[in-house]
Amino acid sequence: MAKPVRVRFAPSPTGDLHVGNIRTALFDWAYARHTGGTFLFRIEDTDTTRVTDEYISAAIDTLRWLGLQWDEGPEVGGEYGPYLQSQRLDIYTHWAQKFIEQKDAYHCYCTPAELEERREAQRKAHVAPGYDGKCRDLTPEQVAAYKRQGREAVIRMRMPDGSTTFVDAIRGEVSFEHTFVPDFVLARGDGSPLYTLAVAVDDILMKVTHVLRGEDLLSSTPRQIRVYQAMGVALEDYPTFAHLPFVMGQDNAKLSKRNGEVSIAWYREAGFLPEAICNYLALLGWSPGDDRENITMKELTELFTVERVNSSPARFDMKKLEAINGDKIRALPLDEFLTWALPFLTREKVISGTPEEIALVKSALPIIQERITRFSEAPAMLKFLFVKNFTIEADSLSKVTDSGSKDVLKRALAELTPLTAWTHESIEGALRSSLIEEMGLKPRIAFGSVRIAVTGSTISPPLFESMELLGKNASLERISAALVL
Ligand code: GLU
Repeated sequence: MAKPVRVRFAPSPTGDLHVGNIRTALFDWAYARHTGGTFLFRIEDTDTTRVTDEYISAAIDTLRWLGLQWDEGPEVGGEYGPYLQSQRLDIYTHWAQKFIEQKDAYHCYCTPAELEERREAQRKAHVAPGYDGKCRDLTPEQVAAYKRQGREAVIRMRMPDGSTTFVDAIRGEVSFEHTFVPDFVLARGDGSPLYTLAVAVDDILMKVTHVLRGEDLLSSTPRQIRVYQAMGVALEDYPTFAHLPFVMGQDNAKLSKRNGEVSIAWYREAGFLPEAICNYLALLGWSPGDDRENITMKELTELFTVERVNSSPARFDMKKLEAINGDKIRALPLDEFLTWALPFLTREKVISGTPEEIALVKSALPIIQERITRFSEAPAMLKFLFVKNFTIEADSLSKVTDSGSKDVLKRALAELTPLTAWTHESIEGALRSSLIEEMGLKPRIAFGSVRIAVTGSTISPPLFESMELLGKNASLERISAALVL
């Protein structure tokens, strides 16, 4: 019987999680859910100079926000914890010591300066760079001499001659000649473990069956396999590796801050829905077998297989993500739309959050739901309804002060003042018959002036609905005020 699937997401939070990390997390999660397996979340925080508590909390928060709930990991615990590597240091020390006893590893006393000098010589001689094995077989006398000099020793894994071959579930058989995989450091001089030791030990101890992760880690795999061997792990207990292709920027360059690789926190602030991010990232490098652009989390878990992950790099496309976000926003029931939009409106101080304001926001949302692709656009669209000291935006001012616009506004005021029913239909009727039919103006010109006078901007939700929401008094006051500018 096949072993139950256990798949982990194991970031090193040296900053906020980025698009690439999250796509890995999403695939890990989807694979676990698809197979009915367990999704583990492990924080790889052994590099204390770069990982901070703040980044760890942010990573936890981001995963939760995205809805990628883990079955084992920080805060929820689990049978194989702790899930923060900084709380597992004794375990790594134990294994490093054991490897030394088994002669799989050795103490290396070379100083960084010496290593650099030899690397330089290797470069000059055109031989593969890497540790040259100098400390592999030190005599007790040599060790004693180094110790007398006060040198600290790192622990280095002995890499035997030969090669490592494994089958990657995405790219097939992969082989690494050990000439290019020199003896590597497992633990620093102060005993703290390096990534390769901790990740390999934990994947085994946590009974991880599948390692789905970024392609950048492909070349670390032979080193991890070497650690499994030293741990005495049976071949059938090695996890299956699946290296996900890179996410490239729009310009085909490696994803960077410049072309979309900003933190997920940024997308959150900018008003993207978690489902939109997950929907977009799911289809980035994976396909359900058709060319759909919308997928729900439920469908993803039903359909996700590693076989359908594309092995060539995927290209990040902000426009596509925005389009998907717009679709998801439009599909939101009004109450949910309100819940999402409110924090953006209070953050921008458009409203303070009184029940009256919230009621008005609720009636205004349907007119912007079709028009926004991010929640961060909502404040600018709705602020005309709430501003205390209404003014017209500076760059729109000239478009209401010319004599043509004044004529339009005068006529609009005259037609709107006697209206008894103030509905978008009655407003539209009055303005169309007077400004378009009788004055013979083009709608863009006629309604443009009224729009600026009433909303203060050339960009607003639909004009007649906006005026209905604003109310008769305020609308007429604003038109009158524009007339005397
Ligand atoms: N902690 C590693 C990183 O963030 C990834 C570990 C792994 O997936 O093997 O780069």
